[in-house]
Amino acid sequence: MRILVVEDEHRIANSIKKGLEQEKYAVDVAYTGIDGFDLASTEDYDLILLDLLLPGMDGVHICKELRAKEIHTPILMLTAKGQIQDKVGGLDSGADDYMTKPFSFEELLARVRALIRRPKHALSETLRIDDLELNTKTYETKRGATVISLSNKEFALLEYLMRHPRTVITKEQIISHVWDYESDILPNTVEVYIRNLRNKIDHPFSSAKALIHTARGFGYKLG
Ligand code: CA
Repeated sequence: MRILVVEDEHRIANSIKKGLEQEKYAVDVAYTGIDGFDLASTEDYDLILLDLLLPGMDGVHICKELRAKEIHTPILMLTAKGQIQDKVGGLDSGADDYMTKPFSFEELLARVRALIRRPKHALSETLRIDDLELNTKTYETKRGATVISLSNKEFALLEYLMRHPRTVITKEQIISHVWDYESDILPNTVEVYIRNLRNKIDHPFSSAKALIHTARGFGYKLG
């Protein structure tokens, strides 16, 4: 899952990025409203954390412009303490939720999870395909009763595939949702990660059916 953080206070922006990366999200940061708007309208994000007061273009303006362009990425608006009336304005402009700064990282994380899973997985923290199970909170991954150990990126890749089951996902989609802008990942790298995943979730379970399928020339499909 890939998140854009638009926040002009570098210290806050960088600590949010660091914290989210520890939770296995791919994170891009924009320090101005204009940069944030440009990234949000050209890249494919799963969530945008948007500060309200920004140089150049403020959060409400960005929100309105994105919605006007039919970009419906969930937006979590960040407002400074005391801007209560702006919260209403933020939501009216098309934001999905808001938080008042300063906030605890735990609370931010809870809201991020809620917004990201909102469309398809409103209730469960556990994603399931056949006997494969992935817990997005504890990071435990299991096939049947066997616990599988995954690296951060393997986990992020599997989570993305599990959120789009039985759908062909292209390498480009994988790259843009699992890696951040600076990663400069090549399609070959995706193949390497898919191979590693197969070695962990399919090959050891020879009696069960394979879950990762290659749609030759297109991409991959789970389940
Ligand atoms: Ca600000």
